[in-house]
Amino acid sequence: MSFRASVVTLFPEMFPGPLGLSLAGRALEAGIWSLDAVALRQFGVGRHRMVDDTPAGGGAGMVLRADVLAAAIDSVSPAWDARPRLLMSPRGRVLDQKFVRELAAGPGALIVCGRFEGVDERAIEARDLVEVSIGDFVLSGGEPAALVLLDAIVRLLPGVMGNAESGEYESFESGLLEHPHYTRPQSFEGREIPAVLTSGDHGKVERWRREQAEALTRARRPDLLD
Ligand code: SAH
Repeated sequence: MSFRASVVTLFPEMFPGPLGLSLAGRALEAGIWSLDAVALRQFGVGRHRMVDDTPAGGGAGMVLRADVLAAAIDSVSPAWDARPRLLMSPRGRVLDQKFVRELAAGPGALIVCGRFEGVDERAIEARDLVEVSIGDFVLSGGEPAALVLLDAIVRLLPGVMGNAESGEYESFESGLLEHPHYTRPQSFEGREIPAVLTSGDHGKVERWRREQAEALTRARRPDLLD
């Protein structure tokens, strides 16, 4: 079974966007995953298909309506849908590689993209939306966050990455940041490739990479070592 992504958004034109190219794009064409972008506007209320309104209690900005969101969600994810329902949100669980792996192992995801000030809380409750953040900063909409999430998931799907091994040694997979990489030319502006990497001694190369990864992690992300 292929991984099925449905994205509820005011801007369906943003999808598949960058995910239509390169690795993810080829996998999309190959049917390893699928993507349907659900236009929230279609479910808007009245002649003007209103999707938002002013916040109850006052304040700046607009809030996406619960009834409009629920109708859009129900159109692609009925109650029996086994896929997790996610809401991209700066208040959510911060995305990490473990969470990405969990999602990639499942049947797919329904992803709701917020806009403006956010969404009516009752839509989150009534449709069991799990809030997911891509980091401690604020975007203008959930779409770029959804693209980030899907990119991270799709590259892990079976058959997407050429080399089955490239995945295991990457940053975070071993709990460490990745070691540095080098390739030709041997000499670049007077800088040589570290001799150990061209020594042909695989054991030494492995040890060097491990040491480098540990040193980098200690220097840049000591929190990962805890
Ligand atoms: N008023 C909200 C921010 C709204 S930003 C607050 O202070 O929490 C508009 C939309 O962008 C959000 O509804 C969400 O879908 C998306 N968004 C913004 N930052 C995000 C982040 N770090 N991760 C995931 N989605 C984000």
